Amino acid sequence: MAADKDFKYNNMITGKNYIGKDLSSKGNQTYNTFDPNANQATEWTFYEATKEEIDSAVGKADEAFQVYKNLSGAKKAQFLEAIAEELEALGDELTRTYCKESGLPQGRAMGERGRTMGQLRAFAELLKEGSWVEATIDTAQPDRQPFPKLDLRKMLLPIGPIAVFGSSNFPFAFSTAGGDTASALAAGCPVIVKSHPMHAGTGELVSSAIIKAAERTGMPDGVFSNLNSSGIEVGQQLVLHPKVKGVGFTGSIKGGTALYQLANERKEPIPVFAEMGSINPVVVLPSALQEKGAFWAQQYAGSIMLGAGQFCTNPGLILGVKSTSLDVFIDALGEEIEKLEPSCMLHPNIHSNYEKGKEEVSAQGGTDVVAEYKKQTAPNYARQKILTVNGVNFLKNPKLHQEVFGPFSVVVRCTDANELTEVLNCLEGQLTGTVLGNAEEIERYGSVIDALQGRVGRLIFNGVPTGVEVCPSMQHGGPFPASTDSRFTSVGVSAIKRWVRPVSFQNWPQEALPEALRDNNPLSIMRIVDSAHTNKKIE
Ligand code: NAP
Repeated sequence: MAADKDFKYNNMITGKNYIGKDLSSKGNQTYNTFDPNANQATEWTFYEATKEEIDSAVGKADEAFQVYKNLSGAKKAQFLEAIAEELEALGDELTRTYCKESGLPQGRAMGERGRTMGQLRAFAELLKEGSWVEATIDTAQPDRQPFPKLDLRKMLLPIGPIAVFGSSNFPFAFSTAGGDTASALAAGCPVIVKSHPMHAGTGELVSSAIIKAAERTGMPDGVFSNLNSSGIEVGQQLVLHPKVKGVGFTGSIKGGTALYQLANERKEPIPVFAEMGSINPVVVLPSALQEKGAFWAQQYAGSIMLGAGQFCTNPGLILGVKSTSLDVFIDALGEEIEKLEPSCMLHPNIHSNYEKGKEEVSAQGGTDVVAEYKKQTAPNYARQKILTVNGVNFLKNPKLHQEVFGPFSVVVRCTDANELTEVLNCLEGQLTGTVLGNAEEIERYGSVIDALQGRVGRLIFNGVPTGVEVCPSMQHGGPFPASTDSRFTSVGVSAIKRWVRPVSFQNWPQEALPEALRDNNPLSIMRIVDSAHTNKKIE
């Protein structure tokens, strides 16, 4: 079937692919999304994108890039702000679809939508301010001895079309118009989304908002496309497509690593920024156990259960040194978590992965059950479980270190601070590491804190890891496998740095330079000129 050229984003779920602004359904393979609360398929049917549609979306993105990369920051900011407005304009239909396809409650949908609009607006502000391009200028010194110094000017420029994989657990904030898309569009890169099959309807509605915003603000056709797919082939073809220049992904270690390897096997390898698994170790020091054990037990029961445990920052590992107060804390954590009611997971597959992972870890030698929700629940509800194990058994069994995506946590009783340090050193890379204690203990347990810092991207003191503030100082990413490149973040405005590369202009004529690098600084941005920070013109 030909693309519906005259379609006018009527904010309906059609099940078709957005190839730029055209809706298309050329394939004959279809799938439906699933309502995990009702435990049945939804009425929405989606067309798996074909090879021809992938080529067409990427081709359009490449053409759009030639125009989009040269648009001013102000113009791109208008586009991002318009996306936020159009998302809001979708109203209840959008949040209802989100809830139906994800099993998540309305309050969460509203909060996540607000966060997504906030992210888009934060990138718009960054673009309007303009200094993010890191303009750095070294003016010529023709009289320098023994050789004259040339005029050199450097700034960050976009790398090209980006493939974004929507995540399952954040249908708004880490999906179609989420952080990866917002940061790539802000950088000047067109985006082709590989929609997450679990919430393709939500993805299509969000896509309609993006396309409408693009048309309203005069963006080139192809600046955004949305491809439906329920298998891995469409994603693989996107990553291998020669005109795709980068990849954003949030999901499993298996999926992220496979895409990373694929991108590196290309004739022209491209960067893959994958945010993957993490068990987010929490170190409970003696003062926290003695002074606030009951409080932290309650806080952590809530944190483990939040969103049915389907957060990349879920606390899956709690570590302490053997003591009576640690035993009291573990008992209290068990009691608190058993009081809470299970909630619905995103999809039967996620639920069965959870059950499988939970049983596999529970079957490991040396583990004891602290708490387990045993009552009958509705289908797809996640029943929480807490295990405990000693340091020696934990150290010798890597199965106990793996992420179990859901409301599940392992508490490790270490013999002493040395063993605690050893346990931290044996962990894989993590998004977060938390310390519960007091400031004096940070110094006393220096080697423990040092080991923790070496494994994580964000250190938290006296708090819970769930809840990721969107702000410039946030780091969401950590050593592998928390993410594929620990030097970058996928949350906060610094996420834009993933989609740009520095380019130097040597002795380039003034009128041909990008505005950010011209002597008269027409954008009035902060720059580094001859090693000094300034927003002044070069006289
Ligand atoms: P996923 O399996 O990693 O899938 C995420 C996206 O990547 C999907 O669109 C998927 O496509 C695609 N994909 C996966 N493997 C691929 C491959 N080899 N080649 C090309 N594309 C690939 O994650 P999920 O579907 O959200 O959930 C599965 C499990 O991942 C969960 O049970 C959980 O354990 C883990 N997970 C972890 C986090 C976290 O933040 N730590 C977040 C979400 C999920 P298709 O679905 O179309 O195959």
